[in-house]
Amino acid sequence: MKTIDDFNFADKKVLLRVDFNVPLNKDYSIADDTRIQAVIPTIQKIRKDGGSVILMSHLGRPKTGHEEKYSLKHVVAHLSDLLNCKVNFADDCIGNDAKEMSEALQAKELMLLENLRFYPEEEKGDLEFAKKLASLGNFYVNDAFGTAHRAHASTAVIAQFFSDHKCFGYVMAREIANADKVMNSFERPFTAIMGGAKVSDKLLIIESLMDKVDNLIIGGGMAYTFFKAMGGKVGKSLVEEDRVELCKEIMLRAKTKNIHFLLPYDSITANAFSNDAVISEADNMNIPDDVMGLDIGAMARKTFYDVIVKSKTVLWNGPMGVFEMSNFANGTKAVAVAVVEATDKGAFTLIGGGDSAAAIAKFGFENKVSYVSTGGGALLEYFEGKGLPGIDAMNS
Ligand code: AMP
Repeated sequence: MKTIDDFNFADKKVLLRVDFNVPLNKDYSIADDTRIQAVIPTIQKIRKDGGSVILMSHLGRPKTGHEEKYSLKHVVAHLSDLLNCKVNFADDCIGNDAKEMSEALQAKELMLLENLRFYPEEEKGDLEFAKKLASLGNFYVNDAFGTAHRAHASTAVIAQFFSDHKCFGYVMAREIANADKVMNSFERPFTAIMGGAKVSDKLLIIESLMDKVDNLIIGGGMAYTFFKAMGGKVGKSLVEEDRVELCKEIMLRAKTKNIHFLLPYDSITANAFSNDAVISEADNMNIPDDVMGLDIGAMARKTFYDVIVKSKTVLWNGPMGVFEMSNFANGTKAVAVAVVEATDKGAFTLIGGGDSAAAIAKFGFENKVSYVSTGGGALLEYFEGKGLPGIDAMNS
């Protein structure tokens, strides 16, 4: 894996694919700049070497060409503040103006291209569009792990125009190295904790992990489809009827593979999907008809904790309950505490995929685990064992 530390960028014009897909407030100010902050070291390394930088990114999901609310011009001022230098902006990502601006760039100077997704060719992975982008620079760096699972023009197709003048930025390199550590050089016991709303979203990753893990912990809304598969009464809890058979198969396979398969014994239940609902507790084979399970119960918290703290490798994706509501956050918090304790004892712990990262941040533990991935869908697909186009393109 070649990274930017393997190159000197003096006199290079570097096309840098970043993930500036940041949430914007109504007045177009930036609500959360984490993704911008993350790539600053990559930008600075290139500039320090004496290279110039042509930044390209997508923002949101524009439908028909240019849309003001998705313009990347909204990030220019903040980026300029963070870097303490001028950021030129090309209001079209291809075409004469972008070309002239890129040709005029001097060492250490920067420009940002307008939202790549204003062209449908970006998501279609159009070769001609990729070629036009490629013509703006003479070196390609990909630092957008969040889109590495997409075979888009700027994330994958473009790489073929740079022969050996291409590499990963620091964010990509870090994400790949950490995911790889869990997937390929894990220490046992290896525990995977899967949670979140739906089992259908996580089936592929569960199947792939069953070839590796010692313990597989299931929590969150997805657990109830497993209880249904065992003939349990789950009340109004979330169930995916069309996945019941698959859950049976997973449990059978876990048994054949000698995996310690842990479902939550009990739940915190509620009579409505609300923090103000009437709360009770139930064992998961016998949840009353008029309530739903919204968090794992006390027995489950204890059992999961005991397994997690003894692990040497932990992968956690998805909350144990509706952690956004304080009355149903205890299960997720208990797991987070266990993951932190395992980390303290020397385990390698990786938290990944949207909501689990949000949960760990909510409890203030983001610096107390080994690594919190920002990858979301890309990370999940990596663990599903699929090659990611953004990574494969760089290696070919
Ligand atoms: P996911 O994006 O699949 O990881 O799902 C995360 C979402 O699952 C969070 O917003 C949680 O509120 C939700 N969730 C977790 N447990 C439950 C549950 N028992 N019932 C309903 N939703 C849940």
